[in-house]
Amino acid sequence: MSSDVLLETRGVTQRFGGLTANSDVSISIRRGEILGLIGPNGAGKSTLFGAIAGARVPTAGMILFEGRDITRLPAAERCRLGIARTFQVPRSFDSMSVVENVMIGAFVRHANATMARAAAYDTLDFVGLGGRAETSAGQLTPPEKRRLEVARAIATEPKLLLLDEVLTGLTPSEARLGVELVRKVQGRGITVVMVEHVMEIVMQLVERAIVLNLGQLLAEGAPAEIVRNEAVIAAYLGD
Ligand code: ADP
Ligand code: MG
Repeated sequence: MSSDVLLETRGVTQRFGGLTANSDVSISIRRGEILGLIGPNGAGKSTLFGAIAGARVPTAGMILFEGRDITRLPAAERCRLGIARTFQVPRSFDSMSVVENVMIGAFVRHANATMARAAAYDTLDFVGLGGRAETSAGQLTPPEKRRLEVARAIATEPKLLLLDEVLTGLTPSEARLGVELVRKVQGRGITVVMVEHVMEIVMQLVERAIVLNLGQLLAEGAPAEIVRNEAVIAAYLGD
């Protein structure tokens, strides 16, 4: 495998009872890219993130990170290797302060609480939440909660960051700030895979996109090609 491939899934299949959420999905994520993961609701995007981040061992298939088989590694170990994710529904600890929430991520790299706290403050500055550090997470606005989710993931110092609909539901100006933040994350040398529904954002932000439909890989390519792909159009508009 060439070293520009950071992560690879080979024939990943995930069944939930009779439902096949991912069916024989093989993709490569290239080091340094921003990869878009798109597809209609229920296509299996979040499930694929779960397979990569270690939410569960897939029914079949294999996942390689930097050439190493991680298919059966627990999520915490994958995090330590450099795979971080956000959740489609933010998972903050609302009674804890914002900085304490980010420290949960920072503890992956710093055993010492003072150092974890310092790293968490740096990360909050990076995502533009520095002024909210002492607020309890429950007080944050929905767009701030998304930023917190990103901050907690970045605080683990990942090589690969999986963003699950972090820009969904934002106003156009909030989404613009989000786009800037994703570019800054890439500028830090972090490879990004993002689930995003707004094609305008996909077009301006991602270099390459992968389309899932009904659990299967439907198309792959530059966003400008993807939007003209007949199968992709049918998946979105068809019955
Ligand atoms: P997407 O993120 O593309 O909207 P998901 O990966 O969340 O899609 O879901 C794909 C399919 O798998 C859906 O039909 C969903 O209901 C089902 N699914 C996802 N997670 C589970 C689970 N833990 N148990 C049972 N079914 C699930
Ligand atoms: Mg999803």
